[in-house]
Amino acid sequence: MRLPALLLSLLIASCVPTDPRSPEIKIPDWSIAIHGGAGVISKDMPDSVVAGYTASLEAALRHGAALLDSGATALDAVEQVVRLLEEDPRFNAGRGAVFTADGTHELDAAIMDGRDLSAGAVAGLTTVRNPISLARRVMTDTPHVLLMGTGAERFADEAGVERVPNAWFDTAQRRAQWERAQARATAGVPRERESTYGTVGAVARDRDGNLAAATSTGGMTNKKFGRVGDVPVIGAGTYANNATVAISCTGTGEQFIRHGVAMQISALMEFGGRTLRQAADLLVFERLEPGDGGLIAVDHNGNIHMPFNSPGMFRGAADADGRFETAIWE
Ligand code: ASP
Repeated sequence: MRLPALLLSLLIASCVPTDPRSPEIKIPDWSIAIHGGAGVISKDMPDSVVAGYTASLEAALRHGAALLDSGATALDAVEQVVRLLEEDPRFNAGRGAVFTADGTHELDAAIMDGRDLSAGAVAGLTTVRNPISLARRVMTDTPHVLLMGTGAERFADEAGVERVPNAWFDTAQRRAQWERAQARATAGVPRERESTYGTVGAVARDRDGNLAAATSTGGMTNKKFGRVGDVPVIGAGTYANNATVAISCTGTGEQFIRHGVAMQISALMEFGGRTLRQAADLLVFERLEPGDGGLIAVDHNGNIHMPFNSPGMFRGAADADGRFETAIWE
């Protein structure tokens, strides 16, 4: 190599971010992963339905990628992506949320900032159009982490966050799923995960190396009054810590709460010396039961991992090095 070329390549190499602990690892400028729920997603779905889900995932991923590429924070990117998915009736979050046993909707959401472990969560909302944005206001405008039910809705009014009638979340498809779930429950047939997938989430690492996670859900179809899942339980379904990883989970919430899935993965990385892949696979494949669900994660080096133990998980990943992909099955 001639001298000027050598100098040039040294100069370029010195500008590419690397992990101070392992200088040979090149870190993408930014990374993002999203999910639209895990469960029994039939491979017999008509092509047009698959194409619809894929288009929704791609639109959300493109939006998040564009934000991060233009220098947005990980926190803004995950909130905006989840808002978009909440507005999309295909997913079980915001409009399109599943029905409770009482035939209503109760929504949960959480957001976490890996810079300082600040977090905001909301549970049992019945009238807040975009639960993820209320969760963010809980984080920024109150000394608390988790607000629930009517109190959270009073706070929405104080914070100027939009409320809608509960029926605004109705969709014909979710009503039909609920009716099938009710018929199964009456007949004593075990609940099927098929009827519940569609929770949404996003995790990101921004240009400054900050991590954030956001998750939003209508919970499980036909859930009992007052049931709260893993999503707003920080460390179960949602977690972000700049030192380790940002995680958003989806699946049978009770299982993710029992195993403290997101926090355990972070702790295995921080105190157990595991990589993201090792830690996440341990929880998903050796602690959770087959069929429980999965998660998306981005670590402090921008590595993305999206393991699941259910037949499918709507998901997508993108980074500054040109990765851009969505998938539903293995
Ligand atoms: N984890 C959510 C809950 O239990 C549901 C899901 O992700 O499908 O509320």
